[in-house]
Amino acid sequence: MPYSHTKIVGPAGRYGARYGMGIRRKITIIESKQRSRHRCPSCRSLTRLERLAFGIWHCPKCGFTFAGGAWVPQTVMGKTVMPKELREVEIEKAKWRETAK
Ligand SMILES: [Zn+2]
Repeated sequence: MPYSHTKIVGPAGRYGARYGMGIRRKITIIESKQRSRHRCPSCRSLTRLERLAFGIWHCPKCGFTFAGGAWVPQTVMGKTVMPKELREVEIEKAKWRETAK
């Protein structure tokens, strides 16, 4: 194996010596999780989901595209805040409808 400059820090190696060790370790954990296999909410198959954009995920098996966490397809946080978030969205929609009148 050739000499690797990023052997210890993994994908966070692209940040060089910047931003501090703690935050770069976190990046390594998050990015390795992002690249691992996740369960598709549509076809339930455990697959390597493609991240199309910030929070947008695509299943290569069934072609299903869905919104998820910014860095991982499904987050524990996302599941717990979802009902409240959706309620807020509905409130916002109601406001827009009112202003449109
Ligand atoms: Zn799928």
